[in-house]
Amino acid sequence: MKIPDIIIAVDGYSSTGKSSLAKKIARKFDFLYLDSGALYRGVTLFAQEERLISRLGKVSDALREALSGLDLHFDAEGRLCMGPRCIEQQIRTMEVSAQVSPVAAVPYVREWVDEKLHEFGRRGRIVMDGRDIGTAVFPNAELKIFMTASEQVRAQRRYDELVAKGETPLLEEVVQNLRERDYIDSHRETAPLRRATDAFELDNSDMTFEEELAWVQGLIQGKFGIL
Ligand code: C5P
Repeated sequence: MKIPDIIIAVDGYSSTGKSSLAKKIARKFDFLYLDSGALYRGVTLFAQEERLISRLGKVSDALREALSGLDLHFDAEGRLCMGPRCIEQQIRTMEVSAQVSPVAAVPYVREWVDEKLHEFGRRGRIVMDGRDIGTAVFPNAELKIFMTASEQVRAQRRYDELVAKGETPLLEEVVQNLRERDYIDSHRETAPLRRATDAFELDNSDMTFEEELAWVQGLIQGKFGIL
């Protein structure tokens, strides 16, 4: 199935399986996949390493200027790098998850990330996942998907992912982190997490990955009239 050079926005709550679905769509239709959350995580790791964020999540004003010297980019395998260092593992830890939402709520951080996302967007043929892709970054994206799932399903997924990576989180801690991030992400002033009015909603609480894919494929066929 050949689909046109469009932008596909996949937004939604934390741990709803956005990146797994977006990656699969990219592979299937030969699109570029871009994980916007990785950039927010990268900025958070940088702020932590440079001591520009307090334990309680207060971001120092000095981060604004420090960002001009920050080099975050994706390598050929799509892993996030900070200068010469691959930081893909570090940005997925609970320490970064615990502070990423306050960092992502800072308007100048969003501007910095958005500029990078727009550069990628110029190429077209891209699937991007995040929180505000369909509402703020690419409001004209040709296809928008908004993902939800029950809290229990999401927490278990996230917990399993962390354990598979060798972390030893408590399930309760994971639930707490999801709640906090969803709350901060939905209530911030700049580009809050919400479903774009023209987004198709996918609640995958009781769906297998194959069912999700079939749903997306049906959506694409219907929308672009492809058989
Ligand atoms: O997608 P992921 O869970 O890795 O994103 C981490 C955090 O980055 C989110 O909880 C949110 O605070 C922030 N984010 C955002 N806007 C996006 C993508 C992620 O605010 N487009």
